[in-house]
Amino acid sequence: MTTQHEHPDWRSRYADALMNTFGPPQRVLVRGEGAYVWDNQDRRYLDLLGGIAVNALGHAHPALVDAVSTQVRTLGHVSNFFATPAQIALAEQLLELCLPAGVPHGSGVFFTNSGTEAMEAAVKLARLHGGPERPRILALEGAFHGRTLGALALTHKPAYRDPFAPLPGGVEHLPFGDVDALRAAFAAGGEKVAAMVVEPIQGEAGVRPLPEGYLAEARRLTSEYGALLILDEIQSGIARTGRWLAHHHDHVGGGITPDAIALAKGLGGGFPIGALVGVGEAGQTYTPGQHGTTFGGNPMAAAAALATLEEIERANLCEHVQHLSARWRTDLAAVDHPLLAGVRGEGLLLAVTLGRPVAAPAAQAALEAGFIVNPVAPDALRLAPPLIIDQEQANTFTRALPQILTAAEESA
Ligand code: PLP
Repeated sequence: MTTQHEHPDWRSRYADALMNTFGPPQRVLVRGEGAYVWDNQDRRYLDLLGGIAVNALGHAHPALVDAVSTQVRTLGHVSNFFATPAQIALAEQLLELCLPAGVPHGSGVFFTNSGTEAMEAAVKLARLHGGPERPRILALEGAFHGRTLGALALTHKPAYRDPFAPLPGGVEHLPFGDVDALRAAFAAGGEKVAAMVVEPIQGEAGVRPLPEGYLAEARRLTSEYGALLILDEIQSGIARTGRWLAHHHDHVGGGITPDAIALAKGLGGGFPIGALVGVGEAGQTYTPGQHGTTFGGNPMAAAAALATLEEIERANLCEHVQHLSARWRTDLAAVDHPLLAGVRGEGLLLAVTLGRPVAAPAAQAALEAGFIVNPVAPDALRLAPPLIIDQEQANTFTRALPQILTAAEESA
């Protein structure tokens, strides 16, 4: 008898029942444990993508399972007319970990259910801050900030934007990492800029770290002209790079404090939750009624996030990520294959770069070999595994890489 999981027609059933926004799925996954997932044929995969930088604690982590099941048994949802202990404790913890140099007076958190909603809250915050006198919002070429209309206005890729024109106006995309262009954008009417929005490491553009010094200059200029500096740490935050937030690395952030920080992905360890952290005055900009959400800060999501943060701390995962990444990068870069060009990124947000645009067949070959990776750019494979991945698991991919690349070359 065929069980529901093993049903042979899942591709056509998927196509018949779901909107075609993602293209055909690669596999049907039915369970996970630690850094592994299994498909409906009981084939095991090392999950080197972690649900796109989400599953910080891997799959079915007991701390997360316990926290969510206890919370849903106790109090699963309340409206935002009421507070819950989990929501308050999470907001307090986020302020502490986002602002290690001290939490400026007024700082506060707005909870959402996703990254794009955190960015939507950021765009509205920028509008409130700027008012009609400051219509400009600066973002970067290559930026990805989400798909709702406000967030999409910040996202750069024409294929994502163009079908939905007209988008909310006022957004200008500056050349990535170009300090002269940044200065020129402020010199030409900086007093009309409400905010600048930046990912410290661009994730969807292919894991591209900003050049050292760029964020510091963005901070200097935004402060000088009275604009907000908003960091999108949705992909790079929550210990992904070996610090709580990517900009906490001195060589990334240069010691700056932003006005707002957007979080999501790893925050709930797989439970949907996002947050916009407003720093100082930016935490006081919204007044009652100006923004809201039914589910944002839901006690289950808050409990999941609290458990995730606690486990990252308890298991010293920042340190683990730093050590594992240093060794893994060296090992990956030393792989002897003509297609391998290099490794870039930070911590466990990495891209293996290739000399030719064969990332898609390489990801397919990796899947056949039992590894989930993502062709984030035509010539780059993204690695964003669970933070709990161990060295030996990472090594299995390093050892398999030459064969994967050869298979990619042959099928391209
Ligand atoms: N911002 C960044 C930097 C992201 O990487 C993403 C998602 O990939 C988003 C925003 C949107 O988040 P979500 O997909 O949770 O809406």
